[in-house]
Amino acid sequence: MTFLKHWWRALFRVVAILGVGAGLGFYFGSVASGLLVSLVFVLFYWSYQMFRVEQWLSEVTEEEPQAAGVWGLLFDYIHRLQSQSAEAQGRLESSLHYLQDSLKSMRDAAIITDPWGNIAWMNDSAGSLLGISLDRDEGRPLVSKMRLPSFSDYLAVGDYRAPLRIPPSRKQKRCLQVEVSSFGGGDKLIFIKDITEQYKLEMMRRDFVGNVSHELRTPLTVLKGYVENLQSLDSDLVSKIKRPLVQMDMQVVRMEVLLKDLLWLSRIETIEGADKTLPINMADLVAEIIEDLRAAYPERKIDTQLEHDDSILGDATELHSAISNLIVNALKYSGHDDLVTVEWKLNLGFPTLTVRDEGEGIKPQHIPRLTERFYRVDKSRSQATGGTGLGLAIVKHVAVSHNAELLIDSVYGQGSVFSMVFKPHHKGSQAAAH
Ligand code: ADP
Repeated sequence: MTFLKHWWRALFRVVAILGVGAGLGFYFGSVASGLLVSLVFVLFYWSYQMFRVEQWLSEVTEEEPQAAGVWGLLFDYIHRLQSQSAEAQGRLESSLHYLQDSLKSMRDAAIITDPWGNIAWMNDSAGSLLGISLDRDEGRPLVSKMRLPSFSDYLAVGDYRAPLRIPPSRKQKRCLQVEVSSFGGGDKLIFIKDITEQYKLEMMRRDFVGNVSHELRTPLTVLKGYVENLQSLDSDLVSKIKRPLVQMDMQVVRMEVLLKDLLWLSRIETIEGADKTLPINMADLVAEIIEDLRAAYPERKIDTQLEHDDSILGDATELHSAISNLIVNALKYSGHDDLVTVEWKLNLGFPTLTVRDEGEGIKPQHIPRLTERFYRVDKSRSQATGGTGLGLAIVKHVAVSHNAELLIDSVYGQGSVFSMVFKPHHKGSQAAAH
């Protein structure tokens, strides 16, 4: 509104100058000459103001030019915009410094690479952890400096949802965890953490659980033998303690199942990073498992849709264990007449194994924790079905070591769907499962 008012005034002034020019021209005998002189005057004044703006914007003069009317208003607008953008730039610069300072002070290595994977910036920890230096290696490809095939593969595949874990090897003594995020036009911010201590603790835990489970097998076998012997004796005393003997027998069997699962889990964990090189025909494997389960559950309805023929690289024993755990769970946690469906299909281009049931379903709050060791939704129900709470932990480990994603979907009261989605294989182990 103000600008329009000034604009009208400026126009009025121009018309007035032209009028005065024309009047003077008339007085001196040539209206055209008078008009021309006043027009040249107006044009000169406008060019002069434009020249001042140009000098100011190209920073020849620092002071904001002063003028009245519409030009003054324009100078004020430009000045305001200039100071706003200077303020924004200042804020941006200070947050950039703040960010760089915080990355610098981190104990983890932080590296920024350009879209071609060349080192653009790194903090001091990257130097000490990885033996690279910004002065020497700036502009060089990061992968050629790290020389770790699993790291190169991880960057090349470009799926950074799960961090990459690089276990210690002959060349690289430490256990590293890599997290990558892309920003800008393909630049990458890479965090590398030294998790050797955590890795050692995990190893100790695995060894401990493995050893204890192994050592407990012998006493348990002895106990089982005595209980069975006692049960087979024909004496008054035995008939008096028949009930406790049956209870003992049941508990020994439960412990046996638990030890079997624990040993299996520690075996899978130990060989988790190992490359899967054997082609497995999943359709055949699933058909074989279902045939065995039909014998164990003769009255249950199991529907199969095995539509994908290609093999995947894997370990048949591990896959056998994961698939049967999923199907047995579907049978265990659904009613006698409920249908269980097993599918092996391509889903969005990925080979996917799906086990679907129409059973009791799982409340949403339990779903994220199901793959934790010993996690059971309903302990008493699970004990009745002979559950150990280790089945889905095993499935999750098998999935991770086969580069597959385990998806769990369930509607409480209506049924559950468990899927293993197999992704293209790349070397190196992703972060361990629970
Ligand atoms: P468990 O040996 O107790 O079956 P799992 O690790 O296999 O242990 O499963 C953990 C828990 O997840 C189970 O206790 C059960 O409550 C729940 N669960 C697993 N599969 C299903 C399913 N298909 N339907 C409903 N609940 C399930």
